[in-house]
Amino acid sequence: MKPIYEPRGAAKEYGEAAINIYTGCPHRCYYCFAPTVLRRDREQFHTCVEPRKDIVQEVAKQLDREHITGKLIHLCFTCDPYPTGYDTTPTREIIKLLKASGNHVQILTKGDGHRDFDLLDGGDWYGVTISTQDNHLAGIAEPYAADPAIRLTGLLHAKARGIRTWVSFEPVIDTGVLKLLQKYGTAFDKVKIGKLNYHPSDIDWADFGRRAEVLCREMGLDYYIKDSLRAEMGKGGCSK
Ligand code: SF4
Repeated sequence: MKPIYEPRGAAKEYGEAAINIYTGCPHRCYYCFAPTVLRRDREQFHTCVEPRKDIVQEVAKQLDREHITGKLIHLCFTCDPYPTGYDTTPTREIIKLLKASGNHVQILTKGDGHRDFDLLDGGDWYGVTISTQDNHLAGIAEPYAADPAIRLTGLLHAKARGIRTWVSFEPVIDTGVLKLLQKYGTAFDKVKIGKLNYHPSDIDWADFGRRAEVLCREMGLDYYIKDSLRAEMGKGGCSK
């Protein structure tokens, strides 16, 4: 088993290495791509949430066997490293192993990872996904994830501790996220912005992408527009 792997395709836009710690995710985001990627039954994916078999021991073995060091390792792509309501000790143990072998972590969650802030330093990244600024909409779209305000508060605490912070505005389901970007953007060390794919949306992506980019530039943010949104921005009109 090689739990540390190199992401391919669109996932590559997020990092050079990654680990998926859990078998599923309870957050039930309606747009979740993971069951499709994993070829798993959607209901089972959201209900059977446990650490992958021997995941902590297997990460330790691979680190030792392949002398993996100096990498930034993303947690996680096909699950959330902080599944709400579950014991996240395996995440903590894996962060310890990665750090002890000279690697850094890049966390991305819709949960609450503050329990592990004591393990992180200025070489690590703590990130949250925010797809809407509307708590009511989030409650419908991501019914069992942490409230967006809790995610944001966690991120601000991480920033105050000297941990680098990032926000993945992907998939955007509400253009109001630009208000959050405007309000809190200076607390984000990096921002990634991407559109909702494979689901209907009445958002004018070209217009949204251009407005997002103008705002990021005006605020002097380190930002990245995901390829599928960038492609929409190239369709017609002119960007400022
Ligand atoms: S947090 Fe991520 S893995 Fe979990 S249900 Fe939502 S999209 Fe899927």
